[in-house]
Amino acid sequence: MTENELPKAYEHTEVERRWYDHWVKQGYFRPRDGATDTFTILIPPPNVTGTLHIGHAFDHTIQDVLTRWQRMSGNPTLWLPGTDHAGIATQNVVEKRLADQGKTRHDLGRDEFTAEVWRWKEQYHARITSQMKRLGDSVDWSRERFTMDEGLSRAVREVFVRLHKKGLIYRGNRIINWCPRCHTALSDEEVEHQESDGKLYHLMYPIKGTQRHITVATTRPETMLGDVAVAVHPKDKRYAPLHGKTVILPFLRREIPIVLDDTVDAKFGTGAVKVTPAHDATDFELGQRHDLAPVTVMDTSGIMNENAGDFRGLTREEARERIVEALKDRGLLARVEPYRLSVGHCQRCDSVVEPYLSVQWFVKMKPLADRALAGLQNGELTILPRRWEKVYLRWLEGIRDWCISRQLWWGHRIPVWTCAGCNEMIVEVETPARCPKCSGKDLKQDEDVLDTWFSSWLWPFSTLGWPVETEDLKRFYPSSVLVTGPDIIFFWVARMVMAGYEFMGSAPFPVVYLHGIVRDGQGRKMSKSLGNSADPIELMEKHGADSLRLTLLLLSPQGSDIHFAEERVDLGRHFANKLWNAFRLVAPHLKGYVPDEAKARAQLTDADHWILSLLGTTVRQVTRNLRAYRIGDAAKEIYDFTWRELCDWYLEMAKPRLYAGPDAPGAEAVRYTAHRVFSTVLRLLHPFMPYMTEELWHALPETKGDICVAEWPTPPRHANKVVEARIELLKELVGAIRNLRSEMNIAPARKTAVLIRTVGGEAETIHDQHDLIALLSKAEPLEIGTDVKKPAVTASAVVRSHEIFLPHAGLIDVAAERTRLEKEVEKVSREFDQSMRKLQNEDFLAKAKKEIVERERARLEALGATKEKLERNLEVLR
Ligand SMILES: [Zn+2]
Ligand SMILES: [Zn+2]
Repeated sequence: MTENELPKAYEHTEVERRWYDHWVKQGYFRPRDGATDTFTILIPPPNVTGTLHIGHAFDHTIQDVLTRWQRMSGNPTLWLPGTDHAGIATQNVVEKRLADQGKTRHDLGRDEFTAEVWRWKEQYHARITSQMKRLGDSVDWSRERFTMDEGLSRAVREVFVRLHKKGLIYRGNRIINWCPRCHTALSDEEVEHQESDGKLYHLMYPIKGTQRHITVATTRPETMLGDVAVAVHPKDKRYAPLHGKTVILPFLRREIPIVLDDTVDAKFGTGAVKVTPAHDATDFELGQRHDLAPVTVMDTSGIMNENAGDFRGLTREEARERIVEALKDRGLLARVEPYRLSVGHCQRCDSVVEPYLSVQWFVKMKPLADRALAGLQNGELTILPRRWEKVYLRWLEGIRDWCISRQLWWGHRIPVWTCAGCNEMIVEVETPARCPKCSGKDLKQDEDVLDTWFSSWLWPFSTLGWPVETEDLKRFYPSSVLVTGPDIIFFWVARMVMAGYEFMGSAPFPVVYLHGIVRDGQGRKMSKSLGNSADPIELMEKHGADSLRLTLLLLSPQGSDIHFAEERVDLGRHFANKLWNAFRLVAPHLKGYVPDEAKARAQLTDADHWILSLLGTTVRQVTRNLRAYRIGDAAKEIYDFTWRELCDWYLEMAKPRLYAGPDAPGAEAVRYTAHRVFSTVLRLLHPFMPYMTEELWHALPETKGDICVAEWPTPPRHANKVVEARIELLKELVGAIRNLRSEMNIAPARKTAVLIRTVGGEAETIHDQHDLIALLSKAEPLEIGTDVKKPAVTASAVVRSHEIFLPHAGLIDVAAERTRLEKEVEKVSREFDQSMRKLQNEDFLAKAKKEIVERERARLEALGATKEKLERNLEVLR
């Protein structure tokens, strides 16, 4: 494509598809060979049956920016993609589909059901990967992994066996979180606690052989049927007479003891508590201390079972109601009071989770957590922003054993077999052929599967071939950085660190960068139920991937949440249009241009020097921000430079020279500068807006190959603070003239006479800029000098003590000009007073740096002079 063919408007859909396919075909996303440092990122694997949501779009854009920047910096880069089988979430989706056909998974049976899920997986996998391609993810598709593919499944079994051998995996009868809808155990992290208005019920249990009662309080009265004791503190004097007594459990007439336990809080409620070991974690421990056998009163669906007497067959909610009624009838309900409580809900289906006694597999986490803690403390791991380090530490310090077995069908089946002949338990990576003890062949595998995070926590090395010592494992472990959201810091981040130390001997990444969460315009979390979630695919169809990517980054300072609404994509879209149009304006004049730096340097004007100097600063700032994971700041830096300096000022200054043609004097300088600036800006922008920059790169003469693998720019050696200051002054003067023109309602295209009365050391500088000032402010004639006479009737302004006059005798509305000047005087006086107060403030004088105080003094002086001149001009009009 040549510059002539650039259409007027940018057609993102066609351009984006074309370039993505091209990049993949060229193999750019595969790490190039080379001994230099590799840059590796592992994608947080999205749920294979999920769709790309706006949070993914943000998360992926950050990773893509880092990867593309590193690739352009010459480092071999690997961004490894993959998806997660997402056990419970995926199983739920497929079960819901079956329910629509009036079926359950049991109608299909385990094999047929998992085959069905695999079919689903294939279908949805294509969807999520095509969405990632749409966004521009520069991942190496040749290394894509799935948490249930053969290699990763092997790694999962290997880890299970190794931890079991070490005694870090055990099977136990414990209170776990049970979801009666999903029919499975859940880890603590899979339970979402929601505050709600509940009730505290005070139940009275008759004391055997007396007319007295003991009162206990509970928020879940239905569990009373599983009570095996009432506990009081041994030193609680109120209950001393009851030591050794028993109480009669209402309805069931079961006789249960009053036990003494130090953990009972005598100050809470009545100081006596019911003990229900099968339905409460604290009670379970208390029960164990006192040798009390637990009584389970519900089945796995939350239905009261045979231990519930007359309440058998009721749901837990019905049972609660009926029990409370019945207690009231018998005068055994002391009182009921409103009570704020935190109720655990299943993360996947929102059912109320039941603390439930069950035999499950657990990982002993303490020894693993200790290394992960040390890693952070000794600096092997950094979490950005730093405030998250505390959260990470607190969780690791209070870590509890991880319940890893799930009563699901979709997932990695636990590699444990039991021999029917001798009951031997066999824990093996590969399915054993016979029992090692009795050689029996009747072996039955554990029915359960593993928590989905039990495969994700191995992601940093299982994806590279572990346990096999592959070339990839040597080359790409540990990765360079982990980019993810703070919501999975426990589920995933901390556990990956533990697994990294345990199985690879080192942290899986030196840096974790936790970005913010994408919220809606009102700051609420986006969710399907609120109907406020934006669909990134739709947004990209409408506005292009580049616009969406840039917008998300511009809205997010490091680690902060994003407040997103569709209209905010205008931010990126307007910028894309601006860049496109600016390029189209310049491109025809660069046709066939071959830069000649030496020739150009001899001709560079102030404007050229100035933009090249700012360009250098921009390159340095963007690079520095990327290095510090300040991705949003990097985007802002390049955005501001392109829009405010390049488009608003430089191109305006350069137009006449550019339009004069290649043979005009000074043409080499302006063409050289424009070419240099665009070639640099496009490369700086490429990681943020990969598609448009690739398209424009090919329309810019003298560029080699694709921008995707072009060299990351180095700052031009043009730092020139003197010229920067000169152009800043020029911008102020032009700004003031433009203001006057618009206030006097002079049409933008119309030329008008302007006079500038200069004073002091800057007089010469201003004089030198005569032609540029005239060009940019449409001043004709423009008179500049220290002895300029003030016209009799004129609009006026003051910039750093230089006076600007717009004489327009016939046009000036004297009254309007007077009002305008009065307002100016008022504004300047206010600033003058503020500055004065600051300089009289002893606190300021004592604390501020010397330069700052000096600067304030100079400012005060300038404001004073401005004020005086404005007042004088006003006087004339009066
Ligand atoms: Zn559930
Ligand atoms: Zn056996």
